[in-house]
Amino acid sequence: MKSNQFDAIVVGSGISGGWAAKELCEKGLKTLVLERGRDVKHLKDYPTMTAAPWEMPHRNRIPLADKLENPVVNRCYAYKEDTAHFFVKDSEHPYIQDKPFDWVRGYQVGGKSLIWARQTQRWSKYDFEGPGRDGFAVDWPIRYEDVAPWYSYVERFVGISGSYEGLDTLPDGEFLKAWEMNCVEKEIQKRIKASYNDRDVIIGRCAHLTEPKDVHLAQGRGQCMARNQCYRGCPFGGYFSSNSSTLPTAAKTGNLTVRPDSVVHSLIYDDQKGKVTGVRIVDRTTKESLEYFADVIFLNASALNTNLILLNSISKRFPNGLGNDSGILGKYVAFHNYRGSINANYEGFMDEYYFGRRPTAVMMPNFRNVKKQEMDFMRGYMTFYTAGRAGFGYADVPFGQDFKEANSTPGPWSVYMMMQGETIPKESNHVTLSPDQKDEWGIPLLQISVDYDENDEKILTDFYEQGEEMLTKAGCINIRRGDSKQSPGLDIHEMGGVRMGRDPETSLLNGFNQMHLAPNVFVTDGACMTSTGTQNPSITYMALTARAVDYAVKEMKKGNIS
Ligand SMILES: Cc1cc2nc3c(=O)[nH]c(=O)nc-3n(C[C@H](O)[C@H](O)[C@H](O)COP(=O)(O)OP(=O)(O)OC[C@H]3O[C@@H](n4cnc5c(N)ncnc54)[C@H](O)[C@@H]3O)c2cc1C
Repeated sequence: MKSNQFDAIVVGSGISGGWAAKELCEKGLKTLVLERGRDVKHLKDYPTMTAAPWEMPHRNRIPLADKLENPVVNRCYAYKEDTAHFFVKDSEHPYIQDKPFDWVRGYQVGGKSLIWARQTQRWSKYDFEGPGRDGFAVDWPIRYEDVAPWYSYVERFVGISGSYEGLDTLPDGEFLKAWEMNCVEKEIQKRIKASYNDRDVIIGRCAHLTEPKDVHLAQGRGQCMARNQCYRGCPFGGYFSSNSSTLPTAAKTGNLTVRPDSVVHSLIYDDQKGKVTGVRIVDRTTKESLEYFADVIFLNASALNTNLILLNSISKRFPNGLGNDSGILGKYVAFHNYRGSINANYEGFMDEYYFGRRPTAVMMPNFRNVKKQEMDFMRGYMTFYTAGRAGFGYADVPFGQDFKEANSTPGPWSVYMMMQGETIPKESNHVTLSPDQKDEWGIPLLQISVDYDENDEKILTDFYEQGEEMLTKAGCINIRRGDSKQSPGLDIHEMGGVRMGRDPETSLLNGFNQMHLAPNVFVTDGACMTSTGTQNPSITYMALTARAVDYAVKEMKKGNIS
């Protein structure tokens, strides 16, 4: 690169960093994206995108040696032979678990946007009002109305399929054609709605192009083919990723520079100027230390890595991490409680089937403690279910004509239900830097201390009771509970540590994701989240990012940020 001076620097090129880059570039800022991983170009670098099962040496399974060497990432359902190259191996990027925490990461251009499950539910007013009303964490400095236009803005560009329902618990957005429920899912929906007047059942909203519009075709993306092989990278650009969408759009402006293999070590705080002037990196391969400078910096390294970078940004002014006079940096980390699931069977409908591999599930917005506190636990959970016919390939016939016939006939219907519970951010759930262990780039290892609490157990019990009751009323049989007992982190919705709020004493960021004490630094990934809601979080990170860039550039024009 010819120069190390830019208008803006974005750290990380995943879901939120891609959005920061697009918005900054489109607003005319010369923008440098620093990404610790290798480059991944849309299409060119998706080696398995069209591979058939027989083309994979282990038929898409992970070999035992890999499982033993990398137990954390192997617990992620999406880590398979066809996707392994997009996931971080435990052995290559160690961290310290004070308590069991499965930290699933994707270090490459595009980050986890290549391997996410693409579910995109808006938060509701009840979610933003939650902490203030129920007295936990701190009050969000923003409300649903502040973010709603920005949800619309990002949804139009991303392409979200969904149905218009008019629910205040899961607000409508800018939708493409919705996916359809199958006959059993519709039957369960009908019966649940008839049995409860406080529960809604809708098809999930997801970042798939069911009917691409001009704005999507202009990105070079096309229709989703319902293959459900998204985690390999999509040959059609049918789902949203930074690689297929935001980064190429940013590049078209001529304002984007992406530097892969750039491990950000810390932000540079100039004690004399009294401000952050740039970013220190270590080149991933050469291990050379380099510095880049800009007027404004967006941190989008993913929730816990952003915490790490800020904790490691030490100066005379900020000896405990950038902007951390309050001492709360790295604290109040939260996640989603995914432990509970329920399996069941459904009799009948043996003459019905469904099209394709739909990339979303049926969803029930949270129905607990929505308008007031009414349970013996705080907050609530979203419920998902799907129904499908099993049986192909499981026939109890070893070979011959009977085997072929048995394998051409689908079996009976089964139903799967799962929860996504809100967790309460607590000071005791925190991350710090190891005092004595460093990675191969000389950066202290992250030490994670995060656990479930009694509230999470109560939510789990309520999900089981309500789920069983709903499935019974819906006509399911053979209902079985499951507890994955998974560690926090495997939800891959870790949030917080650099939370938004009104008061610098109790928060790091203001209502525009701007650091109270370092006004040219913005944090718009999951680290900024004051609470977790019950929705999949990434669409909220995208909306907050676009909103923060809009604000930052206006402030720069006014001369308030330089
Ligand atoms: C299997 C799976 C399913 C998921 N399903 C959903 C879902 O359905 N809905 C949903 O909302 N979310 C889902 N998620 C979560 C979603 O992927 C994340 O919320 C989202 O990617 C976060 O965006 P981000 O920009 O904060 O981080 P990322 O997308 O992880 O990007 C961060 C980037 O920063 C880079 N980086 C990190 N540290 C540094 C450093 N020191 N220097 C330079 N670069 C750095 C990383 O390499 C990475 O490229 C899922 C995730 C997975 C893995």
